[in-house]
Amino acid sequence: MPGFEIFGEEEKKEIMDVLDTGVLFRYEFNEQRKGIFKVKDFENKFAQYCGASCAQAVTSGSTALKVALTALGVGPGDEVITQGFTFVATWEAIFEVGAIPVFTEVDNTLNMDPDDLKKKISSRTKCIIPVHMLGAQARVHEIVAIASEHGIPVLEDTAQAAGGRIGGKHLGTFGKCGTFSFDSVKTMTTGEGGMVITDDQELWKAMSEYHDHGHDHVLNPGGRGGEGRRFVGFNYRMMELQGAIGLAQLAKLDSMIAAQQKNKSILKNAAGRISGVSFRNLVDEKGDSATFLTFSLQDREHCRRVNNSLKNDGFGAINFAENSWHFYPEWEHLLEGKSVLDSGFPFIEPGGKKRIVYDPQALPQSAEILAKTLVYPISINMKDELLDDMCRTLEKAASV
Ligand SMILES: *Cc1c(COP(=O)(O)O)cnc(C)c1O
Repeated sequence: MPGFEIFGEEEKKEIMDVLDTGVLFRYEFNEQRKGIFKVKDFENKFAQYCGASCAQAVTSGSTALKVALTALGVGPGDEVITQGFTFVATWEAIFEVGAIPVFTEVDNTLNMDPDDLKKKISSRTKCIIPVHMLGAQARVHEIVAIASEHGIPVLEDTAQAAGGRIGGKHLGTFGKCGTFSFDSVKTMTTGEGGMVITDDQELWKAMSEYHDHGHDHVLNPGGRGGEGRRFVGFNYRMMELQGAIGLAQLAKLDSMIAAQQKNKSILKNAAGRISGVSFRNLVDEKGDSATFLTFSLQDREHCRRVNNSLKNDGFGAINFAENSWHFYPEWEHLLEGKSVLDSGFPFIEPGGKKRIVYDPQALPQSAEILAKTLVYPISINMKDELLDDMCRTLEKAASV
C-alpha cells in the first residue's frame, strides 16, 4: 500500500519547485514564491479528485480528525461514536477535543455495525465516525441514514482508504466531512500530513481558520498581520514540501490502486482454496482500494493452524485480534484509564469523579470476527516470484 514504493522524478520535480523559491510556508511571501502554492494546489486537486467542493490540508490524519471535530463544534460533555476496530488516532482525537469516545462492534465488513450503532446513540452523541478500515468501505449509506434521523453529523475516517469508492463516489464524501492521512505507510504519502474534505463551505472556513491560529485569511492592506480572527485557533498547517509531494502522489493514486487490486486478486484466488474460508464483505468490490487482503477461517483454532502453516513458510499473516494499536481489548492504556495528567483527565473529572470506564469484554462480536480473520498487506510492487511463493504457501495451508 505505501506510496513510498514509487517515489520518482515526479516527486523530485515538485519538491525542487519549492526549494527553488526557498518558501516553505503555505501563506504569504508573495514576491519570493513566484506564484508557487503547493499546499493550496494540493487541496484543490485533492478536492477535485474526490468530487468534494473544499479541502483543508493539515499536519496529519490525527489532526485532521481533531480539526474536523472542533469545527463541527464537538467538545466537553459530548459523546462521539466510532468503531472498536480502528487505529488509536480515531479515539485519541475524540479525547483531544474533550469529548468521550463510545465504541461500536464491527460486522463482516470489518467496519461499523449499523445495528450496534443504533443502540449506542444517546442524547449526548454529537458525531459519528465510521472508519473505512484496511482500505475498504464501511456501510456508510446505512450509517448516514441512521445519523440523519437523529440530526447527527457523520465524519468518515478515510485515513486508510484514499481513492476508495462506492459506485464511483469517493469515500469521505458520504458524510458531512471526510478525513485522510498521508503518513509514511498510507496509500499515498507526504511523510506526515492529512486532509479534510467537505461540501460545506462554512465548515471548511471554520477549519481553515482554526488550523491557522484563527487567521481569517481575508485580503487586507496589512497582509497576514492585519488579518482578523473570529475565535481562538491553533497551528496544524501543512508545509509546502508536503504539498509538493502530495501533488505528485495524488497523480499516481489511481494507478497505485490498480496495481494493488491486481496483486490482491491473485492472492485472494489462492486463499479461496482454503477449506471453509470466507472473505470480508465488500460494499463495492470495484471501489476497494485493495491495500489489504483479509480472509476469515472457520474458527479461532482453524485460524491458528492456518497461520502457523503460513508462518512456517515465511508468510505469517496479521491477526488483528492480537494487535495492540488497532483493536479495543488490546488498548490497555484506554481500558486502564491511563492519562499523562496527574488529575487523570480525560478519564477522571476535575471533581475526582470517574467520567467513563471501559469494559474489556464490551465488544464480543468484533472479538469473534477478528479472532478468526487473517490479513496480508498488499503492496504496489509485488514481484511475480513473490506472489507465486505466497500462493504456494496459501495452497499448502489449504488442507491444515
Ligand atoms: C493512520 C490513521 C490515522 C492517523 O493518521 P496520522 O497521519 O498517522 O496521524 C487515523 N485513523 C486511521 C484509521 C489511521 O489508519
